[in-house]
Amino acid sequence: MSDTIFGKIIRGEIPAERVYEDDHCIVINDISPQAPIHRLVIPKQSIAKLCDANEDHRALLGHLMWVAAKVANDAGIGDACRFVINNGEGGGQTVFHLHVHVLGGIEMSEQTL
Ligand code: 5GP
Repeated sequence: MSDTIFGKIIRGEIPAERVYEDDHCIVINDISPQAPIHRLVIPKQSIAKLCDANEDHRALLGHLMWVAAKVANDAGIGDACRFVINNGEGGGQTVFHLHVHVLGGIEMSEQTL
């Protein structure tokens, strides 16, 4: 498992409320929310970034998408939300453990976020 902040959260070394958890991932609220609802879907298996994923990760990646949709639906934003994956430093990624942002609760325009 990675030694990023998310690795530490998954291992329980840093506290974070788990909005959802299963065998493959956890969901937490972002510490610095960019929208009224801002959750992070984080796989327990560490992949530094999406573009490092390989064929063996296909089922996990599908699962993360399914959980992201469930989290959005459960939060009541299933019809108005945004899913974001920043990839690499140039893509705005700051924590190098793959995660999906689930954002909503405000009007989403092209410029938002
Ligand atoms: P990235 O920029 O890598 O796509 O997103 C990393 C996200 O992790 C940021 O939105 C940041 O606010 C969030 N984050 C960083 N450290 C922590 C933490 O300790 N706890 C939580 N809940 N979120 C964090």
